[in-house]
Amino acid sequence: MNTYEELLTAIDAGDNGRPIYDPATGDLVGHAPQHSVADLNAAVDAAASAQKAWSLLSDADRCDYLQRAADAIDAAAPALAELITREQGKPYSGPGSRFEAGACSTWLRVTCSHDLSEETVVDDGETHAVINYRPIGVVAAIGPWNWPAMITIWQIAPALRMGNAVVVKPSEYTPLTVLALVKILNSVLPEGVLQIVSGDGSIGAALTTHEKVGKVMFTGSTATGRRIAESSGASVKRLTLELGGNDAGIVLPDADPKAIAEGLFWGAFINMGQTCAALKRLYVHDSIYDAVCTELTELAKQMPMGHGIDETNVLGPVQNKMQFDIVDNLVTAAKDSGARVLLGGEPDRDAPGYFFPLTLIADISPDHPLVVQEQFGPALPIVRYTDLDWAIEQANSLDVGLGASVWSSDRDKAREVATQIEAGTIWINSHGGVDPRIPFGGIKQSGYGVEFGVAGLTSLGVPQVING
Ligand code: NDP
Repeated sequence: MNTYEELLTAIDAGDNGRPIYDPATGDLVGHAPQHSVADLNAAVDAAASAQKAWSLLSDADRCDYLQRAADAIDAAAPALAELITREQGKPYSGPGSRFEAGACSTWLRVTCSHDLSEETVVDDGETHAVINYRPIGVVAAIGPWNWPAMITIWQIAPALRMGNAVVVKPSEYTPLTVLALVKILNSVLPEGVLQIVSGDGSIGAALTTHEKVGKVMFTGSTATGRRIAESSGASVKRLTLELGGNDAGIVLPDADPKAIAEGLFWGAFINMGQTCAALKRLYVHDSIYDAVCTELTELAKQMPMGHGIDETNVLGPVQNKMQFDIVDNLVTAAKDSGARVLLGGEPDRDAPGYFFPLTLIADISPDHPLVVQEQFGPALPIVRYTDLDWAIEQANSLDVGLGASVWSSDRDKAREVATQIEAGTIWINSHGGVDPRIPFGGIKQSGYGVEFGVAGLTSLGVPQVING
């Protein structure tokens, strides 16, 4: 199952499935099965039965399975990358599909490397209390279409290590990649512990209310996250909600425009801006505003965009028509408001594929929808500021707080500014990089709970105290 054709054959549902098209060309990629609620119930039952034996394995034995699953991903990585490119759109090259496929095995391995020993909380001669984390049972993993393989692994790697079984529900836009990933993992894992159901939001909704599901790991929009928080309440499910963001970057006057341009560029345009913690609004001090705009524009002009199968391209299409239209409408509104287009702004709407040119918009009002709404696409608004306190106030003015960044030649100054920003992660002189060792999560309406690191791992277990 290590070639693209073998992988696709293993998952294709044939004529009974839903056709999935390449966002760069409109060509058919394959057919995703359309599972029913009855299929979902059967998957949860199978997961619940398999979970018992899985949870009785030692942590070392479960990690041995996960390490071998990582090896299986590595063996299939070129095929998986091709499927990601054809279905999701991100190119092989740059921070694209090869990077995503590679991150999946890395994440599995690092998740197994976290030290998770019994914690003694009191040992004073009279009281001896320890905490261990026990499995929850069945975990639901519901994910979006932007990084379909990587985000699925983020959800299932810690869940499996902690002794849970998992039922995955991929996005309707990118089910094939996730079906393939699960197939690869299941070539190694014991039968039943990892299930997948493919279908629309109603399947996701049924999963979040299923009585045998103990926890929902959800990554997606704030609107859906809100619905899940409501619907899962009846059975008091545990939740990790990684929701939308609208990350601000603040460039201080002492930053070097040339030195920071590449970091700013990839912070904003990785995966065509379709990344939860991408840089989505940039505040630049008046004294270097024009220089930063010039450096970013010159860099963006050199970035090749096209079908991701062509190795020369580092940028591809937007993943779907819905997202293309959101970006198009916000950019049109920005142009109509009199904001200055430095680059892009005018897609060829009749050309095949959802290609939207890299767009940089300067001198835009700070309360314009392109600034205050999540564009989730390749259009960056650049706001001019003179007063740093005002810029910090703007960064904190929204009801989301996933990430943010501060750019400066003075690390101490940047850190001091970072402490005033309301977000789950604040990067200095970079934006959006995640690391399996470092907890990541949002505040405000960007969600709650963290993924990654030991904190992410223990959130897939239930703490149990033994006192005595
Ligand atoms: P959606 O919220 O639309 O969908 C996410 C997933 O939820 C999909 O699998 C979807 O299924 C499913 N779903 C839809 N309705 C329900 C429901 N009622 N109950 C349970 N599941 C449901 O998000 P997008 O896929 O459009 O992703 C884009 C958004 O995700 C952006 O706002 C982005 O910021 C955010 N995001 C956040 C990240 C983070 O780490 N914080 C990372 C990546 C993205 P279906 O597709 O079949 O409708």
